[in-house]
Amino acid sequence: MRLQVSGPLSHILPMIFTRRSAFLCVASLASVFIIGGAASFTPLERYYFQRQAEQNNVPLRLAAESLRAALDRYAPLPALIAERPSLTQLLSRPDDGALVAQVNEDLRQTASVVRASDVFLMDITGKTLAAASYLGPESNLDRNFSYKTYFAQALRGDLSSFQVYGTTTGEQGYFYAAPVEDGDRIVGVLAIRFNITAFESVWRGADSEFAVFDSNDFILMSSRPDWHFRAMRPLSDATRQVIAQNLQYPIDRIDLLPITTRSLSESAQYLSIEGDRRESFVMSSLKLPDRNWTIASLSPTTPATLNALRTLLIAGLTILLILVGLLAYLLRQARHLEKLSQQEKAKRALEVAVADRTAELRQALADLEQTQTELVQAGKLAGLGQMSAALSHELNQPLAAVKTYSDNARAFLRRENIKEADENLGRISKMVDRMASISAHLRNFARRPQQAIGAVQLDAVVQDALGVVDVRLNSEGGRVVYNLADSDVYVIGGHVRLQQVIVNLINNALDAMAGQNDPVVELSVSGTSLRVRDTGAGLDPEISNQIFDPFFTTKAPGKGLGLGLSISYNIVSDFGGTLTVTNHQDGGAIFCVMLLPATSEHMAAQ
Ligand code: ADP
Repeated sequence: MRLQVSGPLSHILPMIFTRRSAFLCVASLASVFIIGGAASFTPLERYYFQRQAEQNNVPLRLAAESLRAALDRYAPLPALIAERPSLTQLLSRPDDGALVAQVNEDLRQTASVVRASDVFLMDITGKTLAAASYLGPESNLDRNFSYKTYFAQALRGDLSSFQVYGTTTGEQGYFYAAPVEDGDRIVGVLAIRFNITAFESVWRGADSEFAVFDSNDFILMSSRPDWHFRAMRPLSDATRQVIAQNLQYPIDRIDLLPITTRSLSESAQYLSIEGDRRESFVMSSLKLPDRNWTIASLSPTTPATLNALRTLLIAGLTILLILVGLLAYLLRQARHLEKLSQQEKAKRALEVAVADRTAELRQALADLEQTQTELVQAGKLAGLGQMSAALSHELNQPLAAVKTYSDNARAFLRRENIKEADENLGRISKMVDRMASISAHLRNFARRPQQAIGAVQLDAVVQDALGVVDVRLNSEGGRVVYNLADSDVYVIGGHVRLQQVIVNLINNALDAMAGQNDPVVELSVSGTSLRVRDTGAGLDPEISNQIFDPFFTTKAPGKGLGLGLSISYNIVSDFGGTLTVTNHQDGGAIFCVMLLPATSEHMAAQ
C-alpha cells in the first residue's frame, strides 16, 4: 500500500516521515519490546513453574497412593498375630526355652511370609521375649523397647504405628504394634517392623525427586540419599528432646537443609537448595491422610526455565521479524514521500522558472511593442521628413520661378514692354499649373477616389493610357509595343485609376531608359495580367523592396515625387490584385499587374 497524500499534508508529512524517524520509531519500539521482554521473563517462568507443578501432580498422587497402600497393608497384622495362643503362653512362661524356640521360629516364618524385616514379642516391661530375627546378628531379642512410643501406645490398648530410624540396623523402619491380651488383661505387646527403603529405590528412576516429611518438616524418606534425616526448617529444642527420647531419628545426624522457598500456588512451591551446587526445584506436595506426613515431588526447574526462554525467544524473533517488516515498510514510505516531496519541489521550481520566463517574455514583448511603436513613430517622422523635403523641393522650384517671372513681369510693365511681361505672366501660369498638378497628386494619394469598382475591359483601359503617354512619346521619342492577345478580357477595377497605374508604369519605364536611342516599352497581356517591360538598368536588389514606399525616389530633385508606385500599388490592392516587380534576365525591369477576372455578376452590374 502506498501513502496517498495531498494538500498541506504533502508538505508536512515528508518532514515528519523521514528515514531517520523510521529508524528511530523502530528502535524505540525495539527498546520497548526488549524492556518488556526482560520484565516478562519472571512472570513467564512462574507460569511454566506452575504448569510443571500441575504436571507433577499425577505421579505425586500415584506415589502417595502406593505408599499409603503399602503402609495400610501392614496395619492389621500385629493385632492378628497377637491373637496366637502361643504368645500368651510364652508371656506367662518366659523361661520355657522350648516354647521360646518355638515362638521364635513361628515369628520368623510369619515375617518371611509377610515380608516384614522383624516380628517380635515384648512383655509388659518392654523386654523382647521372642523375635523373628532371633538368628540374625542384629536381633532384637532380649532388648528392651519400653521407651518407644509405639510400645507405650500398644500397652495402653491402642493399635500404634511409628516410623523410626532403626538405631540397630541403620535402616529406616516402620513399626506397627498391638497389645497381646490374656482375657481382659494386657500381658504384652507384639510389634512388626518393615523396611521402607524399597520405595525410595523405586522413586529413584523417576524424572523428579520424591521426599516424605513429617509434621516437623523432617525428611523421613527421599529418593535422594543425601536428604535423609535433613530438616527443612529449624527444629525447636522441645521437638529435639522428644525425638531424642524416642530414639526416633538419629539426632546427631539431623541438620538443616539450606533451602529458600517461594510460593507458586496452594500446593506448589519454588524451592532452591544451596549446596555444593545450587539446585532449584518446583515442589508439589500432598498431605498423606492419617499420618500427618507430607509427600512431595521435586522436579528440576531447568525445563520450565528453558520453556520460558524459548517462548521469549520465539516471541522476540517474531517481534524482530515484524519490526524488520515495519522498518522496511516505513523506509519505503519515507522514500516514497521523499520522492513526492522532491517532485513537488521540482514542480514548484519549474513553476517559478516558467513564471520568471513568462514575466521576461512579457517584458520582452512590451519592449518589442514599445520599440515597434517607436519605430513606427520614427518611420512616420522619416516619411513626413521625406515628404516635406520632396514637397518643399517640388514647390520651391516653381515658387522661385514664379517670383522671378513676376519680378520680370513687373519690370517689363514698368518699362511698358507688354509682350515680355505677358510672356513672363504665361510662364507664371505654367508654374502654377505644375504646382496644381503636384497638389492633385497629393490629393490622390491622401484620398481614395470614390469611383466604383466593377468590370472593366482591359484593352480599352490600355488604349486610353497609350493615348495619354502619346504626347510624351511624340516630344521625347520612344515607342510602346503593345501586344494584345485577347481584346475581350474583363478585369475587376476602375477605368480611370487602372489607366493611371498603366500611365505611371510606362512613364517610369521611359524614365529608366532615358538617354537610350529608340527606347521601347513592351506592353503585354496574358490572362488578366498586364506586364510592362523596359530595357533600362533594372532595379538594384537593395531598393526593390522600398520602391513601393511613398516618397521613395532615386530620381533627381524636381524629376520625381516618389509617389507613383506607392499610389499604383494601393490602387491595384484596392482592386484585389497585386503589383510586383522583377528584373528581366536580359536587363531591364518587368512590372506585373495581376488583376482578378470579372465574373458574370460584375458584367451584369455594368
Ligand atoms: P518617381 O518616379 O517619382 O521616382 P515612383 O514611385 O514612380 O516615383 O518610383 C520610385 C522609384 O522606383 C524610382 O525613383 C526608381 O528609382 C524606381 N523605378 C520605378 N520604375 C522603374 C523602372 N522601370 N526601372 C528602374 N527603376 C524604376
